[in-house]
Amino acid sequence: MNYNKKTIYDVDVKGKKVLLRCDFNVPQNKETGEITSDKRIVAAIPTIKYLLENGAAVISCSHLGKPKGEWKTKLTLAPVAERLSQLLGQEVIFASDIIGEDAQAKAAALQPGQIMLLENLRFDIREEKNGADFAKALADMADLFVSDAFGTVHRAHASTAGVAAYLPAYSGLLVNKELSIMGKALDDPKRPFVAVLGGAKVSDKINVINNLLEKADTIIIGGGMAYTFKKAQGYEIGTSLLEADRLDYAKEMVEKAAAKGVKFLLPVDNLCAAEFSAEAEPVLVEGNIPENLMGMDIGPKTVELFAEAVKGAGTIVWNGPMGVFEFDKFAGGTKAMAKALAESGAVTIVGGGDSAAAVEKLGFADKITHISTGGGASLEFLEGKELPGVACLLDK
Ligand code: AMP
Repeated sequence: MNYNKKTIYDVDVKGKKVLLRCDFNVPQNKETGEITSDKRIVAAIPTIKYLLENGAAVISCSHLGKPKGEWKTKLTLAPVAERLSQLLGQEVIFASDIIGEDAQAKAAALQPGQIMLLENLRFDIREEKNGADFAKALADMADLFVSDAFGTVHRAHASTAGVAAYLPAYSGLLVNKELSIMGKALDDPKRPFVAVLGGAKVSDKINVINNLLEKADTIIIGGGMAYTFKKAQGYEIGTSLLEADRLDYAKEMVEKAAAKGVKFLLPVDNLCAAEFSAEAEPVLVEGNIPENLMGMDIGPKTVELFAEAVKGAGTIVWNGPMGVFEFDKFAGGTKAMAKALAESGAVTIVGGGDSAAAVEKLGFADKITHISTGGGASLEFLEGKELPGVACLLDK
């Protein structure tokens, strides 16, 4: 997969109408619809400002939530337009439809330095189905396309990939940052390259493990997924998470790593509990886990082992928590890994979703080189999959 894509710096945007796919999928209060975090809107500002200051007229668009092709007033992007306008210090013209009369009239009248926002793309079922007529109608309003919603680049939707059939397509600054940092880590990492994988399920990470086995020097496995690997090695794991249908795979991976000379590290001790609960009393177990207990977090010896392994790393990629970090008593392993990454001096990349949330919650975000903004997208990136929203951009 080629990650070396043309960016907004590679095109003269003066006097052009730019269709800008943003990620304005902000969290909202379910009752009032109020935006509870404007982080994603704030993150979009540098690309928008660059385009406006360089004489483009910006037609921004995004999805919000999962309306599945239905017009749901609760999921209108109107509050986003308002917040964006406050952040930019200028009017954001809001279209009451997506490719309808209002949007088309407002797009036609849009002047250089002005910005508008279309209504929620997913109010139209053709967005997620990548309907050619819908993509063309979006494209017809503009002269070029800029993709800046990394969280959706793994989707072949009309606004993420379809429009590129009709318009020259460039990456925005957010997407470019993701591509250049993660792309480099995968294609030409500073070594040793250490991958830290955790989270609940082996089955979710199989393709990531497969891909990283070809690239990494060390693979560290923690979290719930580690127990399937431990079981495959003949250990008792009590009532810990187990994917019985993945035991053969787990065994194979450990053997493959050994054959390739890739270090493959698993927990050597665990904080266990009798029940899956925040109040459960942690019990430290080394070796076999008794039948009434489940592994909830990595233990102190494992923390030491894992921390030692990331110490001399050149590049570290982390995806998935080391334990049930949502429960304070079992957040220690994840916290310790976040700290080890922060202090490593390596290029550190944290995949989106839970591990990104953990790093932020635990206060280490500013010590990490890059926290990916896309959960599913960054996972598919690590799988080495072709991402439709990236493949459609012009090569450098
Ligand atoms: P994922 O979405 O696959 O990255 O998984 C994240 C989830 O895995 C979090 O909600 C964690 O609570 C959960 N998790 C991590 N370690 C364990 C464990 N030992 N047992 C059960 N769940 C776990």
